[in-house]
Amino acid sequence: MEHLKEKGIKFVRVLWCDNANIIRAKSVHIKYLEDTLDSGVKIAKAQMGIPVMYDAVAPNAGLSPVGEVTLVPDPTTLKILPFAKGQASMIGDMKSLGDLTPWFNCPRDYLKRQIDRLSGMGLEIKSVFENEFYLLKKDEDGNIIKSDETSFAMTAPQNSYDQMILDLEESMTSQGLEVESYYSESGPGQHEFNVKYSDALQSADNQITYRETVRAVASRYGLIASFMPKIFEDAGGNGTHLNFSLWRDEENISGESNEKNGISKTSSAFVAGIMHHLKALCAVTIPSTNSYRRVIPHFWAGAFVSWGYYNREAAIRVSKNESQSKAQRFELKISDASANPYLALGALIACGIDGIEKDMVLPEETTIDPGYLKSSECESRWVERLPKNLGEALDYLKDDSIVLNSMGEELAKSYVGVKEFEWDVLKSATLEEEVKIMLERF
Ligand code: GLU
Ligand code: MG
Repeated sequence: MEHLKEKGIKFVRVLWCDNANIIRAKSVHIKYLEDTLDSGVKIAKAQMGIPVMYDAVAPNAGLSPVGEVTLVPDPTTLKILPFAKGQASMIGDMKSLGDLTPWFNCPRDYLKRQIDRLSGMGLEIKSVFENEFYLLKKDEDGNIIKSDETSFAMTAPQNSYDQMILDLEESMTSQGLEVESYYSESGPGQHEFNVKYSDALQSADNQITYRETVRAVASRYGLIASFMPKIFEDAGGNGTHLNFSLWRDEENISGESNEKNGISKTSSAFVAGIMHHLKALCAVTIPSTNSYRRVIPHFWAGAFVSWGYYNREAAIRVSKNESQSKAQRFELKISDASANPYLALGALIACGIDGIEKDMVLPEETTIDPGYLKSSECESRWVERLPKNLGEALDYLKDDSIVLNSMGEELAKSYVGVKEFEWDVLKSATLEEEVKIMLERF
């Protein structure tokens, strides 16, 4: 409190991220912060029933305009916002009124539950969301204009955005995110700015901070930063690749040089679990109608159920350690920033746990672009095309009791209800119509 007062903070935002992955916040005045730390700020239960396109409750989400929960800020997530004068933020946990037990629809609680299950097996995940985003402008009529016409890693945008990138580095660092690398990506005006991995809960919290910061800093420079999965049909999409490694007793146990595939038995089973459930997982990790415009073969988005070392067309790309003797980390490319990071990571862990519990065996590695495999070569590698639209992915999710049960009845219902509503309303939308809705949501 002292620190916040010294820094001139007047408002503290309590943030939440809903099933449609829209980040929202209610602010409390600093005078009321102490009470808020105990009892939270109230929001309507129906907030978890809102789809991406407008603030109206999805009819089958199991939520109505009646009822409230409270959003209790987690003080360990406190940030003084470098981009909003006099304001700080904390991430909220959704709790039931009165007894303050976790509300089953809370995405952050869902992730915590999966982390606890994993830790019950003596395991831990370290992870980071690796984001790509576009920097764009709008003309007087509101049409998007590309901010440049460059391609992968060209240095011109790294020069022209120097001040913004510096501002971004300072803003991330002051909020405790450790910046690792930056370069311009393949699309015109597309950038990639990477931060360091952390434990699972913090990586999802960091993803909220990251998105908030990029968008706010860009807007200071008159730019719209967008993480929308596919903005231009003919240019690279925005991935939010989910990088993870498996740890036991503070040791990375992803790799094992004595294993034929260089992956430890436990991690092999964990990754096999993800591959086994991948089509259903798509409904959580690439969960917007727009996501499926990105996931097409030969755009490095990982359109096939498959895994491979340094394979950018496989859904799971594996990297080796420095000496190249064993696996170091896994990257789920089938992940974008239209996914709620708590749900995406939680569901990934649930699938991995299923793989371990059922002793699943990882299929053969895919060493070429899976789009060019002969059908006879696909079976032993489990190579299959991923769902082609959100509707298909939702059908897989509705059949996947492992993912649904991990969510629990209420969250599964609200999540599927929201996503089915989005699919119903947007299934025939053109890219242009999607851009109008989603560009500034994600
Ligand atoms: N932009 C690509 C995607 O949609 C990824 C490119 C890369 O491998 O970094 O995921
Ligand atoms: Mg990239």
